Amino acid sequence: MERACPRQGVLVPRVERSLGVSLGDVRCHIVDMGGMANVMSRAGWSRNETHGVVGFQLGRDVYVRQDAPWTVLHELIHRAGVNADRLNRYVAEGLTEAIALELKEDPAEHRPTYPAETQWVQGVLLPKLGMRAVHLGSILAKSSDPARTLAELLAKRDPSIDRGALSRQLAAQRPERPDIGERGSVAGAGSRAYRPPPPPDSDGTVGVIAAILLVSGATLGLPLLLSPSRGTR
Ligand SMILES: [Zn+2]
Repeated sequence: MERACPRQGVLVPRVERSLGVSLGDVRCHIVDMGGMANVMSRAGWSRNETHGVVGFQLGRDVYVRQDAPWTVLHELIHRAGVNADRLNRYVAEGLTEAIALELKEDPAEHRPTYPAETQWVQGVLLPKLGMRAVHLGSILAKSSDPARTLAELLAKRDPSIDRGALSRQLAAQRPERPDIGERGSVAGAGSRAYRPPPPPDSDGTVGVIAAILLVSGATLGLPLLLSPSRGTR
């Protein structure tokens, strides 16, 4: 089952060059729905949680569903160090998508997923920092503690924030993460993605957003906070 991912030969150097990190040995696996479920089950996800997953990254290994080659770029960005093993899932997914949008050179290389997270990163986080997604991604990918690094970057913009509290809220909640996609009913869209609900023991998305809203100002954040951030199965 192991072979190169579609466009891996051009996407790996592009991600490495843009984020300034080496991906080392990338082991790409093309899997079908059953294969994805098996891999995720071994990583501790329930069968129910594997439903609709199109991409999965675990250590050196990247798993891409055969009918979703467009998720390779997204997974390689995770592989570079922007992922929910190292950073709050909401922020990691939104930033990964924002980076993918900046790096894609062909429509086949990317389809939008995690729309709410992406909107928040592009509309709130990056303007607050005055950075492009690739720039922030390169800093966080190289950081040994991305949550703290991001909290410190935000604190530079607003010294009144509690960087320790923010750092804790920006931290990863659980290891390994799937990328969920679903055949959508929207004509022509082909696929849309949704986000599974946050685990009940986590800070939850709203808590994270609320924390960063304190940084960003209510006028920017309130509409986002009130808008539905969960997709539907
Ligand atoms: Zn992802």
